[in-house]
Order: sequence, then structure tokens, then C-alpha cells
Amino acid sequence: MGRFRVAGIAVVSLGAVALSACAAGGGKHATPASPAGHRQNRAAADATLRKSETAAAAQAKANELGQIPVIMYHRIVNNPPPGDDRSPKDFRDELERLAAEDYVPVTAAEYVTGKIDIPAGKHPVVLTFDDSSPAQLTLDGMGNPSPDCAVGILMDVAKKHPGFRPVATMYVIKDLFGKARQEEQIQVLQWLKDHNFDIGNHTRNHLNLLGKPKDQVEKEIAAGQTLITSLVKTPPVTLALPYGNQPHEKKWALQGASGGTRYDYKGVFLAGYTPAPSPFTKDFDPVGIPRIRSKENKVGDCKKFCSMAWLDWLKANPTDRYTSDGNPNTVAFPKFKAAFVAPSFTSRALPY
Ligand SMILES: [Zn+2]
Repeated sequence: MGRFRVAGIAVVSLGAVALSACAAGGGKHATPASPAGHRQNRAAADATLRKSETAAAAQAKANELGQIPVIMYHRIVNNPPPGDDRSPKDFRDELERLAAEDYVPVTAAEYVTGKIDIPAGKHPVVLTFDDSSPAQLTLDGMGNPSPDCAVGILMDVAKKHPGFRPVATMYVIKDLFGKARQEEQIQVLQWLKDHNFDIGNHTRNHLNLLGKPKDQVEKEIAAGQTLITSLVKTPPVTLALPYGNQPHEKKWALQGASGGTRYDYKGVFLAGYTPAPSPFTKDFDPVGIPRIRSKENKVGDCKKFCSMAWLDWLKANPTDRYTSDGNPNTVAFPKFKAAFVAPSFTSRALPY
């Protein structure tokens, strides 16, 4: 008992020293605060901050180890043929649903690098568009997107739902939104950059990389990268594989070089079939990140594996879905899930 009393007194007196050091700092005869006092103040402040961060994470039911839908779109056109295209109405309805269900778009680059800066209680969604068609982005002479192209619809939905960030990742190939002149190609890619859209590589010629030799895989990917960097300076952060097909060695798509161009991506995206793991979990593998086809769940595989079915599933399984704590510096989650944190993120972990 006596020992505890002594310890208690020692703590109180140390606290008094720290307080007087602070007081002296503000007075005329300032003396430097003792390093020990500073350390203790700092530790106390850290503990208080941690407590409030933990409380905020619990309040938001944060789960930053949860799954994230990465939705894959192709063309947005009236009377879409069977396949991956969608009508403007279906596309708008899906965006309206995402907004109503508290999703906030982040780009593929933000997702793979763990820069998911969205408010507490919100869920990230990554919108990706393949093949750079004019149905995705057409600009008028003043640089405004036409209202019926995908980007025009996305901007309009965002205007009606404050907080729904109008950002997406465009996986481009040589058909640069139907623009043949280099000046026009620069205009459209620069517009994307200026509006915080993300430009990703989808290879230059959209060749199937399945079974191709290493030098050809690297040549195709490097050519896609050069296509982008010759128009806007920033190199892409991610790649989407044509047809979702991985090369013989998966890592050839992630890193390589050809003709003086070197690429080193933070993520390579597939074309199916599930939501993607949080970048903060052990399940995250940059060499093959799944995406979900945008489609209603009426027929065939889509009954389970397209966007409507997965959004239904994520809604019905909130403990499996990524929910933000609103603090981009922490990785917050219910402590039961702690075993799944990737080693590189344990220093940012905030279990509650
Ligand atoms: Zn494609």
C-alpha cells in the first residue's frame, strides 16, 4: 500500500514540475522547460488524442479493414448492346444509389496508396472507366463535359449530392476519347488532371497479355505509359489489364521497362469478380486487384458477381464493408479484426 502512495506522490509532484515549467515559459524570466516535463506533457496529450480518436472511430463504426467496391465501366450509351456498356439512365441510377448509401468516390491511385480521406461513417468506392471512349468524356469548346457523357453525369450527380466527390480513374488506350490530334488529346487529359481525375494505363494497343513473352508484355505496358506521359507529365500510378488477363508472371505487369521507359505501379487491376480488399489488410495484393462489372443482377453471373448484387451484399454485411473514421492518418477497426492488419500499417492502427 505504502509503495503505491509513494508512487502516487511522485506522479503528482512530477505533474507539478511540468505545470510550473509551462507557467515559467509564459513569464518574464523564462527558463527552458525540462525535457522530462515536455516528454510527459507530450505523452499525456498523445493519450488524450488517442482516446478521442478511438471514441470517434467507435462512434462511426469505422472499419478500415473492410472491403471496397471498385466498379468497372465501359461505354455509357443509349440502347447499350449486350455486354459491359450501360445506358445513361442506368449509370445515373447507380451513382444516385452510391450517394444515397453513403459512398464517396476515391481514385484508384488514392485507394492503392491508402490515401482514403473521406468523412466519418462514409464508404469509399472506386469508379473506373476502361478504353477511353468519347461516351465517357466529350468536352465542348469551353472545356465543359457534355451532359450525357459519363463524366457529365457524374458531375451532375455530385452537384445534387454535396460530398459525393466527382472523381474517377480513366484507363486509357490509344483511342484517346476519340481525339486524333495531339493538341486535343492534351486538352482532354489535362482537363482530367485539373479536375482531380486519375489517368491510369490500360496499355497502348489493348492487346491480350495472356501467354505473351516478357519482352512483349513490357513493351505493351511501357507504350501505354509513354502515351500518357507524352501528353501530360505525370506517370500513371496503376494499370488495368486488357480483358483482365494477367501475363504468365503476374509481376511483369507491376514492374518492368522497355525502350527506355520504366514502370513501377502501385496496383494492377483485373476485370472481375468481387469487391477489393482494404489497402491496409494482409489480403491486399497489388499484383491483381479485383473489380466489379457495373450491371443489374438479372441474369447469369450477374446474379452474384455484378455491381447491383455486390452493393446489395455490402449493404447487408456492414461489418465486411470499409467504413471510414474520418481521419486519414489512422487505420481504425473493431479490435476483433486486428489479426488482419498488414504489417506496414500497424503503426497507424487504431483498434477500438
Ligand atoms: Zn479494355
